[in-house]
Amino acid sequence: MNSQVIIVGAGAAGLMCAISAAQNGKQVMVLDHANKAGKKILMSGGGRCNFTNMFTEPDNYLSENEHFCKSALSRYTQWDFMAMVDKHGIPYHEKTLGQLFCDNKSSDILNMLLTECEQAGVEIRLDHAIEAVEKVEDHFELIVNGQPATCESLVIATGGLSIPTLGATGFGYDLARQFGLKVLDTSAGLVPFTITDQLKNWCTELSGTAIDCVVSCNGQSFKEAFLFTHRGLSGPAMLQISSYWKPGDSITINLLPNESALDWLQQAQADRPNTELKTLLADQFTKKVAALMCQDWFESRALKTYNEPQLKDIARQLEAWVVTPSGTEGYRTAEVTLGGVDTDEVSSKTFEAKKVPGLYFIGEVLDVTGHLGGFNFQWAWASGYCCGQAL
Ligand SMILES: Cc1cc2nc3c(=O)[nH]c(=O)nc-3n(C[C@H](O)[C@H](O)[C@H](O)COP(=O)(O)OP(=O)(O)OC[C@H]3O[C@@H](n4cnc5c(N)ncnc54)[C@H](O)[C@@H]3O)c2cc1C
Repeated sequence: MNSQVIIVGAGAAGLMCAISAAQNGKQVMVLDHANKAGKKILMSGGGRCNFTNMFTEPDNYLSENEHFCKSALSRYTQWDFMAMVDKHGIPYHEKTLGQLFCDNKSSDILNMLLTECEQAGVEIRLDHAIEAVEKVEDHFELIVNGQPATCESLVIATGGLSIPTLGATGFGYDLARQFGLKVLDTSAGLVPFTITDQLKNWCTELSGTAIDCVVSCNGQSFKEAFLFTHRGLSGPAMLQISSYWKPGDSITINLLPNESALDWLQQAQADRPNTELKTLLADQFTKKVAALMCQDWFESRALKTYNEPQLKDIARQLEAWVVTPSGTEGYRTAEVTLGGVDTDEVSSKTFEAKKVPGLYFIGEVLDVTGHLGGFNFQWAWASGYCCGQAL
């Protein structure tokens, strides 16, 4: 098994890198221990793959080095990927906030990548586990399924730790450490929060209820919906903020993201003085939500009976509900892994390890993590494409 380039990981970044390198005239072999390529692509976006975001910017990414992602994102943009999708006649639509989803199935995107690989002459070998890697002079020697393999360039595209049942492993981090590269601590990102304290009964009673909000934590805010679940809090707003949350932190939820709570209460007091607070809240949220608010937070009376400071207290609670999650659901359900191979170890132009010529890291294995909304795939495409061009 010899190839000019071996790419480990037939996921989003690995397949894109293979296409880019092979189109650039390289002989490319992709190895994956899983029995199928691109399992996360197939699972993504609820089966419709949110394959990019029209508003992709470096600000949509978390990394110790916020500048690292800029070069690749500008050299292979969302418009470049959309051009490939268009070339293959794949129908798609914007769902919300620039998020592009397939009209049909995620397999449209995977099949597009596999077709491009085939046309460019990429060899993909599944069910291939890499048992050892060594650098010998100017090439790499691998043991793959008990057999020797060699390559001039070795690209690690093994992703993060999220969802082990989809084939995720720490291979990329272990290999980076083996070659003396720094790996930053990892944690689950884009992941639901678990709740075990007195809020637990809210989660049980309101499971399935979604509310629009602005959620904030550690200086970052997202205006999206959140969802109560039996285990805790989920939905886009919570997944987004989970990437900024550390154990022990509180999050602040504004339940009236589109207006001033005090203005709303004062207007209601003027318009409907005899209405009970509980009824007003039920109109805004749901009966069940209002019942819990009036059980745990507010005394419900006719609106005309509240004085200004009391209305201000109610407004403050609605606009700045402080919740301290007990934890997250972890890698089992996380969409991404925060942290990873330190970007200081890698060129932002070529993705080659500065200390190990010929060794490359792309995609989620690096310490670059996108927000929810197609940004993680865009990073996989951009880093994969740019690395492929540099090989
Ligand atoms: C349920 C779910 C839904 C998601 N939805 C979206 C979405 O809609 N939009 C979006 O932008 N992002 C989404 N993401 C995130 C996105 O899937 C990842 O960020 C992206 O796939 C990362 O690409 P990658 O190529 O770096 O890694 P991956 O796509 O994870 O690919 C890594 C590959 O490496 C292989 N591998 C791992 N270890 C080894 C090993 N030891 N030997 C050989 N091969 C190995 C794996 O089998 C896998 O094929 C979602 C993630 C999940 C889990």
